[in-house]
Amino acid sequence: VNTGGKPDISREKSAELYEKAKNYFPGGVNSPVRAFKSVYGTPLFIQKGDGCYVWDADGNQFIDFCASWGPLILGHNNAKVREKVTEVMQNGMSFGAPTALENELAELIIKNNKFVEKIRFTSSGTEAVMSAIRLARGYTGRDKIIKFEGCYHGHSDSLLVKAGSGLVTFGETSSAGVPKSFAQETIVIPLNDTEALTKAFEQFKDEVAAVIIEGIPANNGLLMQDPEYIQFLQNICKEHKALLIFDEVITGFRLGFEGAAGHYGVKPDIVTYGKIIGGGLPVGMYGASAEIMSHISPDGGVYQAGTLSGNPVAMAAGIAQLTELLRSGFYKDLNNKASEFAESIQRFATARNYKLKVFYVGSIFWLAFTDKGKIQTAEDIDPASMEKFKIMHRELLNRGIYLGPSGYEVGFISAAHTKIELEKAKRAIFDSLDVVF
Ligand code: PLP
Repeated sequence: VNTGGKPDISREKSAELYEKAKNYFPGGVNSPVRAFKSVYGTPLFIQKGDGCYVWDADGNQFIDFCASWGPLILGHNNAKVREKVTEVMQNGMSFGAPTALENELAELIIKNNKFVEKIRFTSSGTEAVMSAIRLARGYTGRDKIIKFEGCYHGHSDSLLVKAGSGLVTFGETSSAGVPKSFAQETIVIPLNDTEALTKAFEQFKDEVAAVIIEGIPANNGLLMQDPEYIQFLQNICKEHKALLIFDEVITGFRLGFEGAAGHYGVKPDIVTYGKIIGGGLPVGMYGASAEIMSHISPDGGVYQAGTLSGNPVAMAAGIAQLTELLRSGFYKDLNNKASEFAESIQRFATARNYKLKVFYVGSIFWLAFTDKGKIQTAEDIDPASMEKFKIMHRELLNRGIYLGPSGYEVGFISAAHTKIELEKAKRAIFDSLDVVF
């Protein structure tokens, strides 16, 4: 496809690897978005990352704004994380028994985050959320959960559910293989809509175990919610004795050490985390008050376990990474850099009358091809606008900038992005937008 932009970079080696991968993995990948189905060309096979850069198998270099979908807040191959991991690995990789390292990481988190008194480590965000839902059901003795259209919470059965028609609906499964009966336990409503929430609680009085929401929804664009709405959500949960679960797998330790809960100043009953606490290794976590967490086995009746939970090498990466985040001024510097970046792209687009809005919070940004001043629900996104993203994505790759391969995905700025790279990236974005429009 000739988009009238820069000549395409070579993807020869990536193409070869992709052909091979198709023999081994469905769609050639181990997670669907990696297959580049919503953007141009062969998926890039990444060979190496360092700081804010990645290199693909063909030797192309990119400034990376995907950051492994969020975990790498210090950038790739951070020396402190690498050294700690290397040191701990000398003593073996896994024991399936307690280690001092899990105490150390837990203490670091609990001491600096008022939303959790007790926690459990898991190996992924999906597991953390799935366990949090079970805990909420076990704790309340109720089965139904409310989730929002436009929020992603991993791939467990109860949560692969999308809205049906109507304001308050039982969900419809959004994946083959999810039993209809599971979807019957999940009520799906639009974001930022107090009426839908009120109706859901009226309709399912005394049946709702929990409402789950992404701290700030960031898996379907960046859907900033009104603070009053989040407050309303907390109040209505309390009123109906349903638990409020904040899924902070993206926002946790990203917006600040206390994530979106800290950002809004609300107190969720259960919080789930992932990504950043693993420092790039597989770690998830959920936590709550000591009282709620006492319902988890072996103390309580809610079962949850994991062979690799609290894995020492992953704990080491987490300790090294979170220690850096606690340094004074860390988030202020990062967030300032990100807002300057986002604002200057917005100024450029506005000056040229391009239909582009840069939504951002902390160091998360989303380039939306729209002229709407606010996008707060999944419905506000025009799917046709993704064609423009597709062109921009290709132009950016050709100019050495790597964004996640979907226009619904947000970008991440890390501590490793310096002014120099951000300037370079801005210029590439400006030139790409000139091609798009
Ligand atoms: N919850 C949210 C908010 C996420 O963004 C994700 C993944 O992106 C998950 C849960 C699932 O985490 P994982 O991919 O580690 O299973």
